[in-house]
Amino acid sequence: MKIAVLAGDGIGPEIVAQAVRVLNVLRADGLPIELEHGLIGGCAVDATGEPYPEATHQLASAADAVLLGAVGGPQYDLLPRQQRPERGLLAIRKELSLFANLRPAILYPELANASSLKYDVVAGLDIMIVRELTGDIYFGEPRGIEMRDGQRVGYNTMVYNEAEIRRIAHVAFRAANKRQGKLCSVDKMNVLECTQLWRDVVTEVAKEYPQVMLSHMLVDNAAMQLVRYPKQFDVIVTGNMFGDILSDEASMLTGSIGMLPSASLDENNKGLYEPIHGSAPDLAGRDLANPLATILSVAMMMRYTFNQEDAARRIEDSVKKVLRSGVRTKDIVESNAKSVGTKAMGDAVLANL
Ligand code: NAD
Repeated sequence: MKIAVLAGDGIGPEIVAQAVRVLNVLRADGLPIELEHGLIGGCAVDATGEPYPEATHQLASAADAVLLGAVGGPQYDLLPRQQRPERGLLAIRKELSLFANLRPAILYPELANASSLKYDVVAGLDIMIVRELTGDIYFGEPRGIEMRDGQRVGYNTMVYNEAEIRRIAHVAFRAANKRQGKLCSVDKMNVLECTQLWRDVVTEVAKEYPQVMLSHMLVDNAAMQLVRYPKQFDVIVTGNMFGDILSDEASMLTGSIGMLPSASLDENNKGLYEPIHGSAPDLAGRDLANPLATILSVAMMMRYTFNQEDAARRIEDSVKKVLRSGVRTKDIVESNAKSVGTKAMGDAVLANL
C-alpha cells in the first residue's frame, strides 16, 4: 500500500500529520503501508518554482494512493497563473486522470446544531456528490483574456465528449447501486448544448442500471432543492463546474467544512484523497484546524483504493465515538463550550482507534 503524502500549504501539514498518525496505527496493526512525502502547491513553488514539480509527479504516479492536505495562501495570489498553487491541484488531477470526485455530505447527529438549516431538514442527511473532475469549462480550450475591438474580452469553453460523460455516469450509477439506488443528474440543458449531450449520454447509460432510479434536474433548481429538502437526494452526478459549487453548498448543510473528506479516482481506483476545504491561512500554524476531514479521507482511501472496508469502518467509528464523547475543534463547537486543538483531536481519534 504505497501512499504519497503531499501535505501542501497553510493548515495542510498540521491536519495531514494527524492523518499520518492514523495510518501508522493501521501499519502497526499489520497493513503493509509505505509512506513517502512530497511537495505540492505553494511550498513546491518556493522550493522548485513549480506547483507540481516532476519529482512529485514521479512519486504520485508510482503510488497506489495520494493523501493531500491543501494548497494555497495569500502570499501566492500575485504569482503568474501557471505558478499558482491551485494549478498544482489541477495538474495532479489531470496527470493522474482522476476524473471522478466523490464527495459525501453526511450529517453526524451530534453536529446537527452546527448546521445553519433547521434540525428536521438536515438530521440524518447522507448524500454523495459525484463530480466530473478533468473536463468541462475548467480545462476547455480556447480560453483567455484578449483585446477585441478596443476592449478586453474574457472567454472559456465548456466542453465534454461522450466518453468522458459515460465514464463518470458509470461511477455514479455504481455508487447509487451500493446506496439507496437513486441518482439525480444535474445539468443546464435548457441553455447549454454541452449539457444537453450530458443528459442524453447519462440517459443512455441508465439502460445498463435498471435497478437505479435516474432523475434529471437543472442546476439552478438543484442549488435551491439542496437547501429546501436535501434529504430527497441519494447520489448526485454532475460536471466539473456545477459539481464544484453544489458540493460546497452540500458541505455547508452539514455545518462544517472541516468534517468532509473526498476521493478522486481514476479508472483503476487509484485515488487522491483530501479534505474538501482549503488551506485556511487564517488558522495555519495555530493548532486550530479540524483534522477530521483529512482523517476521514484516509477512511475513504482504505475503502475505495485498498478495499479495506474494516479499516475504513474502524476509522469512521473512531470519529463517531469522538464526536459522541463531546470532543470538538473550534469550528464545530457550540458557542461557549470548550474546544480542543488539532493535535488533541488527533489524540482523541487515536485513543478510540
Ligand atoms: P478554506 O477552505 O481554506 O477556508 C474557508 C473557511 O473555512 C475559513 O474560515 C477557514 O478557517 C475554515 N476552515 C477550512 N478548513 C478548516 C478546518 N480543517 N478546520 C476548521 N476550519 C476550517 O477556503 P478559502 O479561505 O477560500 O481559501 C484559502 C486558500 O485555500 C486559498 O489560497 C484557496 O485557493 C485555497 N484552496 C485550496 C483548496 C485545496 O487545496 N483543495 C480548496 C479550496 C481553497
